[in-house]
Amino acid sequence: MIVFEQVTKIFDGRTVINTLDLHIAKGKITVLIGASGSGKSTTLKMVNRLIEHDSGRILFAGEETRSFKIEDLRRRMGYAIQSTGLFPHWTVAQNIATVPQLLNWDKQRIRQRVDELLTMLNLEPTEYRERYPHQLSGGQQQRIGVARAMAADPEILLMDEPFGALDPVTRSVLQDEVRRIHELSGKTILLVTHDIDEALTMADHLVLMDKGQIVQQGHPAHILAHPANDFVREFIGRSD
Ligand code: ATP
Ligand code: MG
Repeated sequence: MIVFEQVTKIFDGRTVINTLDLHIAKGKITVLIGASGSGKSTTLKMVNRLIEHDSGRILFAGEETRSFKIEDLRRRMGYAIQSTGLFPHWTVAQNIATVPQLLNWDKQRIRQRVDELLTMLNLEPTEYRERYPHQLSGGQQQRIGVARAMAADPEILLMDEPFGALDPVTRSVLQDEVRRIHELSGKTILLVTHDIDEALTMADHLVLMDKGQIVQQGHPAHILAHPANDFVREFIGRSD
């Protein structure tokens, strides 16, 4: 669904993504994991062109992302981030409806979709629809961030630490919800995390990054059983 071919990104003369080759398979959850600064967010943002790559090619559905109109590209990809980025003066319903509004959906359809997403994420619509972000807990805000990313049923969901800074219980509830949604919809998901347990729970395909390159990738069970080197062994906490 998404293919990186020899992609490089340089910031201020420093190579932060180095000739990266990566395949993000349709209908799977691909998880990028790595230490802080290893290039995870940069990789994610190059997919929807929040960051433009310097060389190599990034393909979406067989075409270079550069050949798309940027708005079209972004509408086809949902994007959820750790800090949620909810608009503080908009209600939950308005926040979730951001993309449907841009697409000029009629009111009835928007209302239906908002309620459907809230229900799916275990938030009773009548109770939450008209609230403002500051009237929600952190975990609820993150759920709204995920709902907003999914609102117009994008072909791919890009999620950058969407459950960051949550207590372990809420985090695990949200992980289960995203997995359930994934199983129901078969959506392609690219998830960034630095939490190895989250990565192992969520991933169909796990990609370990270090210094802008891929150190190892594969099914989590395979990586656990056959870490490629000491770096991987240490990262997955199996340094015995
Ligand atoms: P974290 O786990 O802390 O979120 P990350 O793996 O997501 O880390 P990136 O945000 O992709 O890391 O950053 C990769 C490298 O690129 C870092 O060294 C960072 O300092 C650098 N970098 C990121 N964005 C910029 C920018 N806009 N200008 C200059 N350097 C940048
Ligand atoms: Mg990051």
